[in-house]
Amino acid sequence: MKRILVVEDEPAIAFGLQLDLKNEGYDVEIESDGESALQRARKEAFDLILLDVMLPRKDGFEVCRELRRGGSKTPVIMLTAKTQETEKVLGLEIGADDYVTKPFSPRELRARVKAALRRTAEDDLPIYRFGDAEVDFGRCELRRAGKPVELTALEFKLLTAFIRNGGKVLSRDQLLDLVWGHGTFVTDRVVDNHVVTLRKKVEPEPSEPRYIVSVRGLGYRFDG
Ligand code: CA
Repeated sequence: MKRILVVEDEPAIAFGLQLDLKNEGYDVEIESDGESALQRARKEAFDLILLDVMLPRKDGFEVCRELRRGGSKTPVIMLTAKTQETEKVLGLEIGADDYVTKPFSPRELRARVKAALRRTAEDDLPIYRFGDAEVDFGRCELRRAGKPVELTALEFKLLTAFIRNGGKVLSRDQLLDLVWGHGTFVTDRVVDNHVVTLRKKVEPEPSEPRYIVSVRGLGYRFDG
């Protein structure tokens, strides 16, 4: 069972996160100030830390910086409330892996958590599961309910790109770069067509996709 440390001083958010993540099968601990969080994270092993920025005693940026200074490689997702905080996280000067902007949807947060845990687990556990699907990166194979599903190499690359970027909106341009390679001349339409065929292979109801969702005007997002 994966252990997550939630560092958040607003009880409603902290307990909401705890409940939601426990439902997903994670073991969730809460700390409500930066100093206690830092001590706890140094003493105990966590697979992921969700770290609010504005905290009593020590802010989230400082907590993250000190963790990294101490050699910790635990993935950290910052919970940011203001644009300036987000910009600071994006500057990567503090060593956080990702951020989620408040107010966030539980669904978005779950996807980010899963993606962060997956990035660290990818090397030793090359199988990713969502719904009844199993993606075996070692064998480059997709299985649904235990049975292999025929995928083209491009479709497998596309699925991999989605899984690696779970919870994030990917534009058609980004997908072209990730899957077809930078500078390849194919049109947006090609991306859309491949998404359609991939959905037929991974979605329980391809006409109402729940894993590879369209984000109007922006692109696609994997919520697996
Ligand atoms: Ca706070």
